[in-house]
Amino acid sequence: MDKTFMLAEHFISINGEGRCAGELALFLRFAGCNLRCDWCDTAWACGMDAPHEAASSDDLIRIAKDAAAQGVRNVTLTGGEPLLQENIRCVMEQLCSMGLRVEIETNGAVSLAPFLNSGAVFTMDYKLPSSRMEQHMRTENFALLGALDCVKFVCGSREDVFRAKEIAEQFRPQCPLYLSPVFGRIDPAEIVEIMKAEKMGNFRLQLQLHKFIWDPNARGV
Ligand code: SF4
Repeated sequence: MDKTFMLAEHFISINGEGRCAGELALFLRFAGCNLRCDWCDTAWACGMDAPHEAASSDDLIRIAKDAAAQGVRNVTLTGGEPLLQENIRCVMEQLCSMGLRVEIETNGAVSLAPFLNSGAVFTMDYKLPSSRMEQHMRTENFALLGALDCVKFVCGSREDVFRAKEIAEQFRPQCPLYLSPVFGRIDPAEIVEIMKAEKMGNFRLQLQLHKFIWDPNARGV
């Protein structure tokens, strides 16, 4: 019997962040997360009992085909934590085989090893001290990231920015490094000041576009 996936919502919008920020993407958001970040902006989707529909892989492929027919070339699997969905690798591979660019937004607390060479790329968060989840980070994942992946350090405080620098120096991931301010928690200008003072030329500041275009609390955008 076909496995089902806990699909919390799906919609077409622009990628608000990551390497293809600003490009149209189909978002498949899955319910359930193994973390509880202090500033989570999708807390409604984090419980294993969060509202969702049970979607088969055929359902997901159908949704992706509809999006592709509308000119969408990117699919972002997000959550929650999408890699907790059983058999998600199979979906990743099917979406890639359709010629779509498949991006996995993952929280840094799940091993990437079982998902390598699927064709999908990873935007891996590293949860900094303000999240209160740093102890769950799987730092062995850094060595698994390739040039097409990226690491997103979500910064909710000045301390977070300094910590991001430390982590990058320690693990030296071979991919782009983003600093992403938690909306409303830290002024992006402050992050730029720290980047300058700390010689953080290997990082890029990235604002969450969707928070500026739409209501920061809006869902499905
Ligand atoms: S990992 Fe993401 S979805 Fe999970 S609690 Fe943290 S911010 Fe929310």
